[in-house]
Order: sequence, then C-alpha cells, then structure tokens
Amino acid sequence: DKINIAIDGPAGAGKSTVARKVAKELTYVYVDTGAMYRAVTWFMLGHDISSDETDRVIHAMRELHIELIPGEECQQVIVNGEDVTDYIRANHISKNVSSYAKIGPLRTKLVEMQRNIASSKGVVMDGRDIGTHVLPQAELKIFLTASVEERAIRRYQEIKDNQQVTLEQLMHDIAERDRQDEQREISPLVCAEDAIRLDTTSMNIEEVVNQIISYCRT
Ligand code: C5P
Repeated sequence: DKINIAIDGPAGAGKSTVARKVAKELTYVYVDTGAMYRAVTWFMLGHDISSDETDRVIHAMRELHIELIPGEECQQVIVNGEDVTDYIRANHISKNVSSYAKIGPLRTKLVEMQRNIASSKGVVMDGRDIGTHVLPQAELKIFLTASVEERAIRRYQEIKDNQQVTLEQLMHDIAERDRQDEQREISPLVCAEDAIRLDTTSMNIEEVVNQIISYCRT
C-alpha cells in the first residue's frame, strides 16, 4: 500500500533533490511546497505588494491560482496560466520568501492545497512544516539537516554559473532564512517528534536516498 512521506529541514539540506529521487524510485508523486511559497512571492513582488502589507497580500491571494504539474525531472509551477518554474529560483525570491511565508491566511490556503494533493497517498512532500502540520499522519517523516557551510556550498555549486553571488553571501542568506523560518509564530521550522533526523553533511545524495528507501521497506 502507498504511504505518504514528509521531508522537512532547513534551506539547502538537499530536500528537493532527495525527495524527487525517492519519489521516482517508488513511483510516487513529488510535491515541492517551497515552490508554492516561492510562486506566491514572485506574484506579490511582481504586483508591488510588500510582505508588510498583510491585508493586500491576503486580498491578492484570491486572484492567485497556482497549479503544480508533476514531472520526473522537475515539478512545473504555473501561476495564473504562466509557467514560473524558472523565475521562482532567482536569488531575490529566495531572499524574500520567508517574510511572505509568515502570513497566516496565506499559509492556510497553501496548506489546504497540499493536503488535497496528498489525500490520495503515494506522495513525497518536502517543506518546513509537512511532518508537524501539513501531514501529521504521514507514515514516514524525515528531517534533513546539514551544516550551514555545507548547505551554502551545495547551493553555490548549483547556481554559480548564472548568478552573481559569493559563497559568503549565500551562507549569510541561508542562515538568515533559517532564522526566520525557525522563529516565525505559525508552523515554525522544527523537527517533528516522530521524525527521523538525518544529518547529511558528510553523506552524498545516493546514500541519503537509499537510507530513506530502506525506511520505507521496513
Ligand atoms: O524549500 P524552499 O527553500 O524552496 O522554500 C522556500 C521558503 O518557503 C522557505 O525558506 C520558507 O520560508 C517557505 N516554506 C514554508 N513552508 C514550507 C515550505 C517552504 O514556510 N512547507
């Protein structure tokens, strides 16, 4: 029988790569919830709605339709008919997303979508609050961590070719995003009590994926 797998952890811990590969191995659907928060951020910034203007954000959410199209290599994200998959990874989105992700009614709407997607089981969902809040009944919960240095290095290797950013800047940005995600009032980033904590600092992707698959088979 199919189960649901929740994968949480801080920025750059390898959640999305690992979750995608686990999903492929099990022929499950991969759902990247960070992409949904990024899509909202892209939309709000594009409409000059700042994260301080909570009422405007909440109002604009009504005009916002997000579709996720699962794919083997990547999940496509469509906002009001426009494919924003490539835009939402930009550095200015990464820097701003946590301040929008603090807004309660915005989270409520995205969480509802996430629970709907997972209702048919066979989902690998990654995020910050999946095991604690979105899918507290998930059969398997993983909390991925790695040192800030290691996470910044991984991000740097991913994006260095097309963006002007230094490793130091990335380390600073990641630490700041962790701080905001851990300290927000609603669904902060925290390891669920019943999650398996995996420190991936000195593990490669394949080792992490195999480890998670082995938990599914026991
Ligand atoms: O996973 P990713 O780094 O793309 O997530 C971007 C941001 O979206 C996180 O730093 C966090 O602020 C927010 N997020 C969240 N809850 C989730 C997934 C992401 O608050 N389930």
